[in-house]
Parts: sequence; C-alpha cells; structure tokens
Amino acid sequence: MSATIVEIIKKTRAQESLSKEEISFLVEGFIRDEVPEYQMSAWLMSVFFQGLTSKEAAHLTEVMLHSGHVLDFSELPAKKVDKHSTGGVGDKTSLILAPIVACAGLYVPMISGRGLGHTGGTLDKLESIPGFTTSIDESRFREILSNLGSSLIGQTKDICPADKRIYALRDVTATVESIPLICASIMSKKLAEGIDALVLDVKFGSGAFMKTLKEAEVLATSLIEIGRHHGKQVAALLTSMEQPLGRFIGNSLEVEECLAILKGESLYGVELKDLQDTIELSLELSGHMLWLGSASASPEEGYQKAKEILESGAAYEKFLEIARAQGGDVSQLPKAKVRHDICAKSDGFMQSFDTEKIGMTSILLGAGRKKQTDLIDPVAGIQIHHKIGDAVQKGAPLFTLFSSQDTAFEEAEIRLRSAAEISLQKPPVPVLIRNKILPPAKG
Ligand code: URA
Repeated sequence: MSATIVEIIKKTRAQESLSKEEISFLVEGFIRDEVPEYQMSAWLMSVFFQGLTSKEAAHLTEVMLHSGHVLDFSELPAKKVDKHSTGGVGDKTSLILAPIVACAGLYVPMISGRGLGHTGGTLDKLESIPGFTTSIDESRFREILSNLGSSLIGQTKDICPADKRIYALRDVTATVESIPLICASIMSKKLAEGIDALVLDVKFGSGAFMKTLKEAEVLATSLIEIGRHHGKQVAALLTSMEQPLGRFIGNSLEVEECLAILKGESLYGVELKDLQDTIELSLELSGHMLWLGSASASPEEGYQKAKEILESGAAYEKFLEIARAQGGDVSQLPKAKVRHDICAKSDGFMQSFDTEKIGMTSILLGAGRKKQTDLIDPVAGIQIHHKIGDAVQKGAPLFTLFSSQDTAFEEAEIRLRSAAEISLQKPPVPVLIRNKILPPAKG
C-alpha cells in the first residue's frame, strides 16, 4: 500500500478509481483511529460529489462487512432470507412478514435499525411492546432463530462496526444522501446476517429518501448489483411512499396495526379493508421472500402461501412466540392518554400528502428522536382517516393525534393541515407497487 490518505482523498475527488487495498487501508485505518475524522469526512464528501464506481462500492461494502463479525447460519436446514426497506412513514411490514415467512419454514434473521430522519424504525416499534428487548447476544439470537424461525434485533457492537462509525460521521457531515454510501451501509449490514437472499422494498415519493421513481430505480439497481457480487439472490419492489403506509404512524400504534392484521380484526374503528395497503405490501414482500428462499415456485405462489398463513392465524401465534422469546408482552401494549381530532374544513377529495412532513410531525409528537439522546413516547403518533382519492366531508376527522401529553398538539395540527391537500376533483389513487426488479435466474 503506497498511497497516503491524502492521495486517496485526491483520487476520489478526481474521480479516479480506488483499489480494494486503498479502500481497506482507509476504512480499517479509520476504525483503528489511525485516520482522523477530518480526513474521513473529506473522503466522504468527495464520494458525495463524485460517486464511486460499482466495483468500488462493492469493495467498500466488503471492507465494511468484514470490519466485524459475519454471522453464519449454514447449519440451519432451510434458506435464510430477509427484507430491507429504504425507509418510510407508517412502514411496518417487517412485523407482519417475519412471522409469515418463519411459518413457511424459512429463517428470517432480521437486524433492524432505529428511526432515521422522518422515517420510523423497526427497533423503536418493537421496543414499544413492554419488556421486548432488541439487544440480545448472538447465541440467544441464534437460539430464537433456530427454534422459532425468526428473531428481530438491533445492530450489535460486533456487526459492521465500520458502518456504525462511518454512518455517525455521515450524519453530521451532510453525506447521508449518497447512493454508493447508502448501498455500502445497507448491504454490509444485510450481508453480515448470513442470509442467502434479500428482498428490497425501495421507496419513492414524498415520504421516501428517494423522491422519484427514477432515483429509487438507480438505488435499487446499485443495491442489487452489490448483492449479486456477493452471490446473493436479490429482488427489489419499488413502492410508493406518496402517502403513509396503512392508517397509523407511531410505535405502539403501528404494532397495534400489525396485530390487528395478524389477528384479522379491526382497530380503533378502522376495518381490515382499510388496512389493505399494509396487507398487500406485506404479502407481496413475503411472497418474494418465499420464492427466493425456494419455499414456492413463483412469487405468485409465494403470495398465496403467505396469504393462507396470515389468514390461518399462524403468523399471529408466531409473532406472539417471537415477542415472548425476546421478553415482550403484547397484552401490556401502552395506550395514549390523550387524543385530538383534526377535522376537515371543507368537502372534497384527499388529493395529496406531504408524507415527509407527516413523518416529521409524528417526531414532534414524540414518536421519534429530534436528537440521538431524546426519549421516545411509545404511544405518540397519528391516525390517517383518509387516503388519496377518498371523499372527505366537512367536519369529518382527517387525522387523530395520539400522545401521553398534549403539549405539541397545536403545532402538530398546523403542520398536518399544511401536509394534506383536499381538492374538488377525485385524483387517481397512487399505485402501491410501481415496479419490480427480479433476479434473472428466477425471473
Ligand atoms: N439506511 C442505512 O442503513 N444506511 C444508510 O446509509 C441509509 C439508510
């Protein structure tokens, strides 16, 4: 290794490719504290502006992956599959699909994240269940996975420590929104799970990090390429985040929405048919996971299998078993002490949402963190009464706010009123799954 760190930064700045040795010299030096944060920040900013080739992104992923422990579940008798979502508002499908796919005989070793920006995180949702712990050690993770088919945990200190350090630096140097950096971050963590296959839910629209379908397609293609480079089967669904998914946003509220779906029951007066987008997306993602895990001959057959498992109640029982194994008791799920309806001032149709603003409002209410040290109010959140295309009547609730205290309701109401547009003409309903990118071998 002859290049210095300054030369490595200069090369990326000039869009010259780095070798795998150069990338590993930089990243390994950084996690050993031999490369200072100011040099790493300069390199990250160079990547932000100049990008990386797909080969460099694959090398970066590999170096980050091997900065820590790579799990190996090859002793388990069926395929290991997971799903990754690029982040959304009300996006709760992990809690539904993990038990479904486990019931179908596959293994789902899911390492999830916390809320990021305006988006929610699976760990925060699960931790709203009293007693549920997402920080269990590797041997317990292995035991639950082997006995129940799925366990859902957070990133441990041994898994991808380079991502943890680099991500924290990206967060404070405005270098999060870089496709190669996002890809390396996501894929290093997913590959560390020891999976055979991965289904990506790549979101686009006002509530996603990628605002357009085109940008989401570029991200999906890059993620798939890295997965394939590592010998994994990867499929991507490109899904709309032009409106929140389902009817509830917030941690215990989203768990309640999932439990209602798993049990086949209504929730706060919302019927199952009104939760159809959450159900459809969960079944589609499950169907693709079953297909990639060789538990079905096609995604369509996987969908049917997933639907039967969901409707039989087996996935509900499985979710309770997983929750119990991780210390959680769903019967003790906390409820909001205060609620507040925001009602329509005129008749019309729900035209569009600023979904990012809705996500940010849920954070204002306490459903997420404004800074890393903030505590979450598990019951805080928002109910959406109308989806795009629904008729709205003057005086009917548009949103209900949930919280353990009403301190932020006034500000939240102002924000939500400006995040929902009502018009006189019925708009077209956004298509939830806009595109799919499937692996050629199976496609
Ligand atoms: N999620 C991640 O894990 N990393 C990113 O860089 C962005 C989203």
